[in-house]
Formats: sequence, C-alpha cells, structure tokens
Amino acid sequence: MALWFWLAFAPLLTGAFVGMLVAFSFQREDPVAFFGLLGGALLALLLRCRLTSAGARARILAGHSPFGCFSAPTTPEALTAKLCTVWDDTGKRPSVVGSGWGWFIGRKNAPRAVYMHRLKGRFDASMNTFLAGTELRDAERMLRKTYGRTFWSTPTMQRISIGSWLARSCHGNSGAAGKPSSYAASRVYVIDIDSRASTAKGPHWAEYKEAKHLFDEDPERYVVAAVEFDIQRMAENKWMQKRKVEVRVHDHVPHVDLLEWLAPDAVLRVLFFGSARKIALGVTYVEHRKDDPITLHRECLGCGSMVPHVDPHDCSAACMSMQLDTCSLVCGLYERNFKKWRGVIRLSDANAFSPDPSWLGFPIIALLSGTVNFELIFILENKTDNVFMRVQTLCNTLIKLYQRVWGRSELRMGDLNRGLVFVDCIARERDAWTVVEAIRPHIFNRTVALHDSKFQGRSVTNAIADLGLVKETPRVVFGTHY
Ligand SMILES: Cc1cc2nc3c(=O)[nH]c(=O)nc-3n(C[C@H](O)[C@H](O)[C@H](O)COP(=O)(O)OP(=O)(O)OC[C@H]3O[C@@H](n4cnc5c(N)ncnc54)[C@H](O)[C@@H]3O)c2cc1C
Ligand SMILES: [Zn+2]
Ligand SMILES: [Zn+2]
Repeated sequence: MALWFWLAFAPLLTGAFVGMLVAFSFQREDPVAFFGLLGGALLALLLRCRLTSAGARARILAGHSPFGCFSAPTTPEALTAKLCTVWDDTGKRPSVVGSGWGWFIGRKNAPRAVYMHRLKGRFDASMNTFLAGTELRDAERMLRKTYGRTFWSTPTMQRISIGSWLARSCHGNSGAAGKPSSYAASRVYVIDIDSRASTAKGPHWAEYKEAKHLFDEDPERYVVAAVEFDIQRMAENKWMQKRKVEVRVHDHVPHVDLLEWLAPDAVLRVLFFGSARKIALGVTYVEHRKDDPITLHRECLGCGSMVPHVDPHDCSAACMSMQLDTCSLVCGLYERNFKKWRGVIRLSDANAFSPDPSWLGFPIIALLSGTVNFELIFILENKTDNVFMRVQTLCNTLIKLYQRVWGRSELRMGDLNRGLVFVDCIARERDAWTVVEAIRPHIFNRTVALHDSKFQGRSVTNAIADLGLVKETPRVVFGTHY
C-alpha cells in the first residue's frame, strides 16, 4: 500500500509540472494566478527531481516516504552507530536497504530501515575494496579502469548495491564456460546484527566463501559494509560473439538451437519464454577470437555505411532486452534476421543486459500488471540419460505453460552436467500454483529454492509445499549433486 502511494508521486508530480506549465503559458491577465502557477510548476519539478536521487528511490522502493530530511551513514563506523541507534530506539533488529529493488520485487516494506546508498565508493586506500552501497555498475567501472578487468558475470541489473548482490542469491547469465557472478568476491566486511551487543562490536573481515553460507542460512542477520574483490579472479574484458537462438517444442530429440544455446563454450547465455510466443528466444555469447570473422551491418539505425557489427550501438542494449524479455510477455515481436543478432560485444557490456529502470516507470508498470517476480532454483530431474533432453523437456513445459497462464520465464544454466537451473518467473499471484505445478516434474529430489531477493510470498511458498516439494535455501540446492 505504502509502495503504491509513494510510487504514484512520480507520475503525479510529472503531470502536475506539465499541467501547471501549460496553464501558466496561457495565463496573461491575473498576476496572482501567473506567479501561483509558476511557483507551483517549479515546486512540482523540484519534488520530482528529488525522486530521481538514489536515496529517495531506495526509500520509495522499500515502501517509505521519499520526502523529508534523512541521514544515511557514509562510513562503516557510522553504519554501526546507526544500526545501534535503531536497536536502542525500537528494541528490534534493523533492516538494511541498498538500492531498494529487492524490497520492491519482494513486495515488502523494509522495517526499521537503515540506508546504504551513501556508503559508497572505494574503501580506505584499497583499490579493489568497495563500500557495500556502491552500485554494481560503478564498482565494475572503477575496477575496469584500474585493472582492465571485469566480472565474469553479474546480475543483469547494474544499479543494485554490491552488498545486496553478494549477501543474497543473486546471479548472472553465466554459461558453461563462464563463472558465477560472485566468483571474484574474496572478503566481506560484515556486521552481525543478531543482537544489540553483536551489532555494537562493529564489522569484521570474513572470507566470502565462508560468509556466504551464513548469509544463506539467515539472510537478515548480517550486514555487509564493504567487499574486497580478487582481481585475479576477474576476467579480461574480452570480445564476445553474440548469437540468437529460437528453441521450439521438440519431443524426441533436442532442438538444434537448444544445442547451440547449450554450447560448452558459452560464457553467457539466457533463454526467454512467454505468453506472446510459441518459441523460446534467447542468446548465447561465446568468446570471439582475433581471427574469427566479424559480421558487418549498417551503422546509424541501418541508414549508414557498412561497418563491423559492434554492440552496443544506438539503443541496441535496451532494444535487445525489450525483445527478449518484455516482448515475450506483451507482443511477441522480435527481429527475425539472424544477422541483426550477430554483433560482437565486450563481456562487460554483455553483462549489463537489463536497461536502467531507475526512472521508476518500470516498477509502476510492474505493479499495474498485477504480476509478481519469483525465481525457482533447482537441479534438473535426471530420469533421462540424455542431458540435452532434460533441458529440452523443461523448455517444452515452459513454452506450453505460458500458453495457459499469462507470464514469462527466463532460464539460466551453467554447466549442463551439473544440472543447476534458475527459472525466473513473472506471473500473476493466482497463477503461481500452476507455474510451480508445471515445473515440478523437472525438479530433482523434490528440492527447490527461491531466489532470496525476489518475491517469496505465500502464493509461491504455499504452492511449493502443497505440491509436495521441499523448499531449501539457495545454497542447499547449489550444493546438491546427482
Ligand atoms: C530489472 C531488474 C533485473 C534484475 N536482474 C537480476 C538478475 O539478472 N539476477 C539476479 O540475481 N537478480 C536480478 N534482479 C534482482 C536484484 O538483483 C536483487 O533483488 C538485488 O538483491 C537488489 O539489490 P538492491 O541493492 O536493490 O537491494 P535492496 O532491495 O536494497 O535489498 C534487497 C535485500 O538485500 C538486503 N541487503 C541490501 N544491502 C545489504 C547489505 N549491504 N548487506 C546485507 N544485506 C543487504 C536487504 O536487506 C534486502 O533483504 C533484478 C532486478 C531488477 C529490478
Ligand atoms: Zn547490434
Ligand atoms: Zn514488444
């Protein structure tokens, strides 16, 4: 409710500004109305601009008022002090808000919120350590500038905070030849906020590979104040060759495009299903080596001369993500010409797959659509020996599922033989049961996890339980093997 209320301010203020500006431009006679409208328009503009700041956006997305004066910590010491103050004032455990997107997708208001958006930038003199409120894109850019390296993969949304990214089960599009998004995280500076006393001890350094298990077991208990990255575990920002795949329902043998999608040399890959299409549409990215040919295309939206096809260009990043993702749900449109999808792209650009949603149109549309976004994480059932058919039958199910319910899914998979898949779903809450029921036969050992920074409401957890599945934490699933 609070979320709706505060989000509505964005279009209302824009509307008020435009309305008053138009009325003002027609106002000639009455000086009171003239200055009243001018003042009103300026005030509306000022308030609307306020909503574009990181802090106001995080507050709205976490269900709180974006207006007024707030203090947000800028150092780990100030963060500790702020967390202690919340304990003292309320007697209860605080919660932390990074960029607010996880709170929004989870449809939860952050209780006793402490904001991380000003705890950003490099930490101390270290070039590879960042405060946890730093946005992923900023940390990546700074590391790339200093070391010429980038992350093997990242969550596709670049405006999230690095603290939330690594404290939660976030992941990117990594394929068999890639690495998980958290691969380069070496140490985290964490505060245990279990009690007032543990909070007061302040942050301590922990190895990420150990801390991540603690975060997984009890996500609300730890606050990441800073993250250190291991440059040796980052990738060279190499050129990738992009390729479109169109996977169709196939009952006995895997579809040829699915084989392409599952290529062992795919560094990144992602596949979309949705109500507006009877196929799955996706992309793979394999390393583009020096002597490999480069496709040519016309520059300037197809009007200019022939040049090597290098992505991103014009609005290609947003257009591709729109076609793959949004259009799977809405209109089914996509560029059929294979060549148009044949650009080469730097790994860092390929990781930044999602367009920037920070103008707040995206959450408003998401709310209006009545859908929720949850993600099932599981190991693929291994009843058939043909590993490709395990994925093909899941694809068949998802393609058919979205002919019955309105929604879309995004499939991500690393190593084929390991069988770990991430099935991100956007659907209406009342269809959650149907979605989980359809996917159930593909789940190994009846064990499934939900992404812990997306929607985890009753509609989904009840469906999981009622359908006889066992909900575990993401890392229990990550640790499961055939
Ligand atoms: C357009 C879009 C695309 C997305 N794509 C992907 C994707 O490809 N892969 C993926 O995995 N996710 C994806 N997500 C989900 C998103 O990455 C997660 O929800 C992420 O956790 C949000 O980060 P945030 O900084 O906005 O977190 P917030 O909403 O501020 O917080 C989310 C949770 O993290 C906790 N948290 C925040 N900061 C810290 C901290 N410093 N220490 C400990 N806990 C903390 C909060 O308490 C909260 O529980 C996408 C979201 C959007 C909107
Ligand atoms: Zn292109
Ligand atoms: Zn469309």
